[in-house]
Amino acid sequence: MDWTPARDDFDRYMLPNYNPQGVIPVRGEGSRLWDQGGEEYIDFAGGIAVNALGHAHPALVNALKTQGEQLWHLSNVYTNEPALRLAKALVEATFADKVFFANSGGEANEAALKLARRYAHDTTGAHKNKIVSFRRSFHGRTWFTVSVGGQEKYTQGFGPVPGGIVHGDYNDLESARALVDGDTCAIMVEPVQGEGGVTPGDADFLSGLRELADAHGALLIFDEVQCGVGRTGHLYAYMGYGVTPDILTSAKALGGGFPIGAMLTTDRVAEVFGAGTHGSTYGGNPLACAVALAAIETIGRPEVLAGVQERAGIFRAELARINAKYDCFAEVRGQGLLIGAEFNARYGEQGRATLAAAIKQGLMLLVAGPNVLRFAPSLVIPETDIREGMARLDAAIDTLDAAS
Ligand code: PLP
Repeated sequence: MDWTPARDDFDRYMLPNYNPQGVIPVRGEGSRLWDQGGEEYIDFAGGIAVNALGHAHPALVNALKTQGEQLWHLSNVYTNEPALRLAKALVEATFADKVFFANSGGEANEAALKLARRYAHDTTGAHKNKIVSFRRSFHGRTWFTVSVGGQEKYTQGFGPVPGGIVHGDYNDLESARALVDGDTCAIMVEPVQGEGGVTPGDADFLSGLRELADAHGALLIFDEVQCGVGRTGHLYAYMGYGVTPDILTSAKALGGGFPIGAMLTTDRVAEVFGAGTHGSTYGGNPLACAVALAAIETIGRPEVLAGVQERAGIFRAELARINAKYDCFAEVRGQGLLIGAEFNARYGEQGRATLAAAIKQGLMLLVAGPNVLRFAPSLVIPETDIREGMARLDAAIDTLDAAS
């Protein structure tokens, strides 16, 4: 049957929990995409910080094809070579001794939170179950992770939230100090808050959390689902801060577009997750792990990581140029190629309107809240694509309404 799906079919066949843009991309190469009608777009969104090597990167395509012809799935009743190779690579590249694989960021965080609770339970006692997190944080959409996340709109209307979770203010060490005590099993934090507005953690805040965790026998969990895997110009953001967590979660760019999540930790903590304590049918799937190994090996190259800072400099210079022209941003912030541009009061909450205007100009963008434009492009985006994309952003902003 010859049938071409259209945007209206989303409303017809899919739950209304998303409201996607009108165009349907069908092909991508590098930082460019083409829709059903052949219109071309520059991609500054990167699938929400996922397509860290752009679209159809040859190393990832090759890994997927090669593995696809060998072995797709086994379950965790058996181990497999790609999972073991990826685990070894992650252990050798980071503080971690052990890795658990899942299929998404939310699942990696769910595992991290369960591990922290179980560790405290087994080493201290059931009373040590408090989790300290931060307002505006985002950790996923499972019931545990959405409850630990610091955005009430995501738990509203879903019934009683799990207990033992409290929230402090991000980048406010005193507010964390008031919450962490002997009953705290974990402090969970994004080194750079992504969804909450693209806000980098202060170095003093993150090192202060490390000290607080140590002083109270709590585990420090870094959620690097969005800011990890090269995005800040370091393989993981913690490396740039010089603050080492007990547990780190990774996803998004780890698979470069193929779904995978990972939770990394030390031997000491890992020990409590004995056989049967936690699991996932697909976690450690050979296809995902083969692609992720190619992604992490490519992104981990010194020239790729160094290129992140160079490209970030061009993004910021272009945003400064646009701001000089329109006086539209109150602040441009972020780290590496995770950049947020917050509209000033003249432009207000026009994030979503800008997304729609940008699509008309051939540019894919993200928002992080109502008034922050978010840029999470490929880490290897060519300079010409950055400049052309910024010209399109300029044209999109030109169509917005501004208060005088
Ligand atoms: N943690 C952070 C910091 C994220 O940004 C996200 C997704 O945006 C998640 C967790 C959830 O990841 P996933 O959507 O893969 O479950």
